[in-house]
Amino acid sequence: MIKKFLGRVFSGQIFKARQPQIVPFNVHGVARERISACALKVTQTLQRHDFAAFVVGGAVRDVLLGREPKDFDVVTDATPEEVRALFRRSRIIGRRFRLVHVMCGPETVEVSTYRGGHAIEDAGARVSDEHGRILRDNVFGNQEQDATRRDFTINALFYDPASREIWDYHGGVEDLRRRRLRMIGDPEQRYREDPVRMLRAVRLAASRGLEIDSRSRKPIRALSNLLANVPPSRLFDEMLKLLLSGHALECVTKLRKEGLHHGLLPLLDVILEQPLGERFVMLALKTTDERIRADKPVSPSFLFAALLWHEVLAAWKSIEGKNVPAIPALYQAMDQVMQAQAEQLAIPRRFGSDMKEIWALQPRFLQRSGHRPYRLLQHLRFRAAYDFLLLRCESGEVDAAVGEWWTRFQRAGEAERAQMLVHDAEPKKRRRRRRRGRRDEGASVKAEG
Ligand code: ATP
Ligand code: MG
Repeated sequence: MIKKFLGRVFSGQIFKARQPQIVPFNVHGVARERISACALKVTQTLQRHDFAAFVVGGAVRDVLLGREPKDFDVVTDATPEEVRALFRRSRIIGRRFRLVHVMCGPETVEVSTYRGGHAIEDAGARVSDEHGRILRDNVFGNQEQDATRRDFTINALFYDPASREIWDYHGGVEDLRRRRLRMIGDPEQRYREDPVRMLRAVRLAASRGLEIDSRSRKPIRALSNLLANVPPSRLFDEMLKLLLSGHALECVTKLRKEGLHHGLLPLLDVILEQPLGERFVMLALKTTDERIRADKPVSPSFLFAALLWHEVLAAWKSIEGKNVPAIPALYQAMDQVMQAQAEQLAIPRRFGSDMKEIWALQPRFLQRSGHRPYRLLQHLRFRAAYDFLLLRCESGEVDAAVGEWWTRFQRAGEAERAQMLVHDAEPKKRRRRRRRGRRDEGASVKAEG
C-alpha cells in the first residue's frame, strides 16, 4: 500500500503540479557546450551567488530538437535589481514585467525572475484596472508557477548547465520525444487569455515539425475571431516571426487549415483564390524560406509587398476603371491597400515606404527604350524591385521575356545593352497603343514622364 502510494508520488500523480520530473543528462543528452557562452556565464555567476539559475524556454526546446537556438533566456529567483548588480554590462528593461538584458560581446541574454501565475492573481487583493494590470504582470513567483504560466509543455523546460539536469513540470520532455505540441492547462482558457498563443501553436508546429495535440488544437477554429482583439503591432510581430521562420509556406498553409488567417491577412483568402495570386504568394514564401535556410538575408518589406501585391493589382484595376490615369491609380491603390492592412496588421512605417517603392517601380520594368532602363538600374531599390519582377514572371503574371531581358541587360556590356534597346524600341506605334489604356505600359510611360 505504502509502496503503491510512494510510487504514485514519484510518478507525479499526487504532487503533479509541484514536483518537477528531473531528467538527467544520460537520458536527454544535452551537453553544456550546446549552451551559449553568455548564457553559461550568466547561470554560473548567479549560482555562485546562491541564486537559482536555469536556461529556459525556446532554447531548451530547440537544443533538445537538435537545433541551434536563436537566443537564450535565463530564469532565476534573483530580482532584476539583484541581477543587474552582478553584471557590469546589463540593464533593466520592460515596464510591465521588468527583466534584465545581460550583454557579453555581441550576445545578449535575457534574464527574468520567476513569474507568478494565476494562483497569485486570484489570491491577491483586487486592485484598480490600471494598477491591477501592472501588478499582475509584475508578480514574482516560484519555479513551478513560472513553468505553469508558459504556453506549451515543451516551452516550459528548465536546464541547469551545472548539473546538466532538465527540470520538467508538465511532461515537456516526453511531448518533445513524441513530437507533440501540448498546451499547459485548459487550452481554451489559455487561448482566451492570450489569442496570440493560437498563432504560436501554428508556427511552432509548422516550423519544428510537431503535431498539435488534439485537445490543444480543437478550440482554435472557434476562437479564431479573438485575434481581432489583439493589438495590431503584436500581430505584426508574430506574423513577422512566422514569415521569417524558414517555414513560412507550411505556416501559411496551416494557418488557412486552422481558419486563422482571417484575423491576420483577411485578404489572404481572396488572394489565394485567384490562381495567379496563389502562385505568386506561394512562390514568394518558398523563395524566402530557401533564403532563410541558406542563412541569406531577407527583407520583410519585400515579403509583405509580395503578400499584398495582388490586392494592389485588383485595386489598381478598379481605380483605373474609373478613368483615373494609370500612375495616379497605382498610387491610390497602394494607399488603399496599406490603409486596409493598417487596421489589422500595423505594418511599421519604414516597411510601408519600402513596400510602396517596390510596387511603384514595377511599371518601369516595361519601359526598355532610351535612357530609362539605365536610370532604373541606378535606382537604390532596383535589386528588390527586380527580384519582385522575377516572381511576377515566374507566377505567370508578366511575360517571362521581360524578366529575361532585365537579367541579360544587367550583365551585358555597353555595346550589347545599346543593341538590346534598339531591338526593344518601337516607340511611336507602341506608345499610341499604351495611351489607349493598356494599364502596365501606359503606366510606365507616365512613370518616367
Ligand atoms: P522563438 O524564439 O523561436 O520564437 P520561443 O518559444 O523562444 O520561440 P519567445 O517569444 O522567445 O518564443 O518566448 C520565450 C518563452 O516565453 C517561450 O518559450 C514560452 O515559455 C514563453 N512565452 C512566450 N510567449 C508566450 C505566451 N504568449 N504565453 C505564455 N508563454 C509564452
Ligand atoms: Mg525565443
